[in-house]
Amino acid sequence: MTKIVFATGNRGKLREASEILGEAFELFTPSDFGIDEDIPETGTTLEENSLQKAEYIFKCKGCDCFADDTGLEVDALGGAPGVYTARYAGESKDFNLNMDKVLSELAALEAGGNQVSRKARFKSVVTLILDGKVHQFTGVMDGEIAREKSGRGGFGYDPIFIPDEYPGLTAADITEEQKNEISHRGKALRAMSAFLNEVKG
Ligand code: IMP
Repeated sequence: MTKIVFATGNRGKLREASEILGEAFELFTPSDFGIDEDIPETGTTLEENSLQKAEYIFKCKGCDCFADDTGLEVDALGGAPGVYTARYAGESKDFNLNMDKVLSELAALEAGGNQVSRKARFKSVVTLILDGKVHQFTGVMDGEIAREKSGRGGFGYDPIFIPDEYPGLTAADITEEQKNEISHRGKALRAMSAFLNEVKG
């Protein structure tokens, strides 16, 4: 069984990655090694932040590891919140305030009857450090921003994101399995899994 560290403290992400990677890989998290601090994310792109998190673990432990970084890009907002997705409405990283900010910015653009595109996408970049070498995998989920929040599932911006595959439903209205099948992170993790199976399988 190949041992690998996933630089996350999020149990949901860990479960998703374990399911995708399967039984040939044993996943650990930084807290298994007593690393409980927030890993710095000071880059200006998802690629940089994802790499920064993976390198942090590699420098501490010297072992195979991976990290992910995700952003929501809204076309009408010039690609914002992008790399600032987690803290769009402030350092409290409050999901409701973040969603309210996106909804009110789109409403402001529409004021006066302007036609505004609500097209958006989630993008995840997964960085794998395997035998000291860096590999990156990207996954995208296309969709649009809803007019109001809906649904109790998911997390983050899910209640205002309508995936193209489920017209009329937000990512918080569908089941976890349905979301994982089409999600940005699911796609990036599956690409990494295919690569790992090729080189380690
Ligand atoms: P992270 O890079 O995965 O920590 O994600 C950054 C921010 O993007 C999070 O704080 C969430 O608000 C948001 N986010 C990431 N993945 C998702 C998702 O699958 N659905 C909704 N929001 C997400």
